[in-house]
Order: sequence, then C-alpha cells, then structure tokens
Amino acid sequence: MGFNKNKIIADILACPICHKGVELDSGVIFCSHCSKKFESRKGIPILFPGKPISDLSGEPSAHGSFKEKFRNTPIYPIVKSLSRLSPPDSSFVRRKSLDKQSSPSSIYVRKFVRSLGRDALILDLGSDSRRISQEIIGLDIDLFSGVDVVGDAEALPFKNNSFDAVIIQDVLEHIPYPDKVASEIHRVLKKGGKVYADTPFIQVYHGSPKDYRRFTYEGHETLFNKFKTVSLGVSTGPSSTFALTLRYYLATLFSFNSSLLFTLWLNVFGWVTFPIKYLDFFLNDHKKAYLMASSTYYIGKKI
Ligand SMILES: [Zn+2]
Repeated sequence: MGFNKNKIIADILACPICHKGVELDSGVIFCSHCSKKFESRKGIPILFPGKPISDLSGEPSAHGSFKEKFRNTPIYPIVKSLSRLSPPDSSFVRRKSLDKQSSPSSIYVRKFVRSLGRDALILDLGSDSRRISQEIIGLDIDLFSGVDVVGDAEALPFKNNSFDAVIIQDVLEHIPYPDKVASEIHRVLKKGGKVYADTPFIQVYHGSPKDYRRFTYEGHETLFNKFKTVSLGVSTGPSSTFALTLRYYLATLFSFNSSLLFTLWLNVFGWVTFPIKYLDFFLNDHKKAYLMASSTYYIGKKI
C-alpha cells in the first residue's frame, strides 16, 4: 500500500497559530513564521497555540468522579469493589470494527468511512483511545492511545485543505466554543470534503472534563452553516434516552441527597433499566425517533 502515516502527518502539520507549515528537526517542531517551538513526545507532535489544555499524562482527566472523592476514605474499597459490578451501558449502539486491528465503531461511522473510498485522508477529531481504522489520523488534547497528534480542536495544527473527511463524535458538547471548531474543520477540509458530527441530544450531564450543551438536527445544521447538509439521522435512539434518564431519575429519587447512595443506586438501577435500550433495535429508524434521540448525527460537505 505504501501508506506512511508519519510522512503524511509531516506534510500536513502546521502551526496552530498561523497555519503555516512547521519544520521538524529531531523531536523539535518549529514555526519559522511565529518563531514558536513545539515539542513532541514518543514521536507524537504536541501543538497547542498556548499552554496545553491537559496534563499530557495520557490518562483521562480526573473530574470529580466518585473515585476521587472517596479515595482516602474507608468506604473507598467498598465502592471500588462495587464499581466492578458496573451495569452495561444504557445506550444501544450497534458497533463493529472495520477490520481486525481497529476499534469497534457505530454502523453510521462505518458507513460514512466506507463511502469515502480507500484513499481518503480522514481526521478523527477527539479520537481518545479509539482507532476507527489504522489509516485515520487521531487528534486529541492528551496522549491517549488513539492519538497521532496532540492539539486543540479550536486551533487545529494542520494546513488548510488537508483532509477528505473529519469525524467528530461525542466531542462538541465538551468544547466551550464549538463555532471555532466548526470553522477549523471547514478550514482543514479540502473542497468537497465531508464532516461527520455525532453529538448527544438528550443525555444526562457527563463531564470529561466539562459538558456544555446538546444538539438537535437544526443545532448541527446551524453550527455547520458553511457546509451543505448531506444527511441527518438518529445514531442513538429514544429507548437509550429512556433507559439512561430513568436510571438517573430513580437514583436521584431514592438517594435522599447522599452522593454515596446515589452512586450505589446508579449501579443497581443501571442493571434494572439497561434492557430497555434494546428496543432501539426497532426504534432507531422510527420517523419520530429524532424527537427524543439520545444522539443525532450530521453529515455535511464543504462547498
Ligand atoms: Zn506560526
């Protein structure tokens, strides 16, 4: 195949401030236009316009999880053993890998990737530890296992017109200024390039590290108003919404303002409510599913 990911990255890598190409010289990355230096770790370039927005530890950031709160208390070992009894996910997502070496991805992402053809250069924006396929370039704010370049979605370290497609899943709700991200995606896409955005619509609050908003079809279309809409759809259906919100509602109702009780009930009611999600097998394609979908997706084309 002759696919050399490092060479491709070196060709499209740019200063996140001026978008001009950078010089790579034995681990040091230099923008001669801004006279700014960037580092790389384990061969992974790290290019933030200012200070890194993560601790670059490669670990998911701690964000007030119950583990943090109870780590130094005698209850912690009990909570820890209970966390092993975690119920299955409340969301019904049909996932399968594109090939043997890759992470499972939803049927909608697989369909999108397949529609692009073999030679398409794709960016997975907010890849975390996921590898949709080995050829896709992963970017995230920390050195997670699915990452090839570390950077900020609001100031992408790539040249203009670099990619044939950008995938952004479960990311837009965590970004303070998503307009900047949409405009960066537009900038790094080639003309005719496509974006696949998949974002929660009705879900409970989830940090990682912060949670700012939800998206409807119109919300996606307004955000990507520089693009032409190709398609819109429900990626996680109404039964998942119901399973998740019922679980959280019951845990809130029966915990009498105690965080510990809340966590315990969340596990118990997780087991009780998760089977509801399987009804999405029938409801994902319902005409009215978008009215209470757990997540919706948007595909747009740069014109
Ligand atoms: Zn520069």
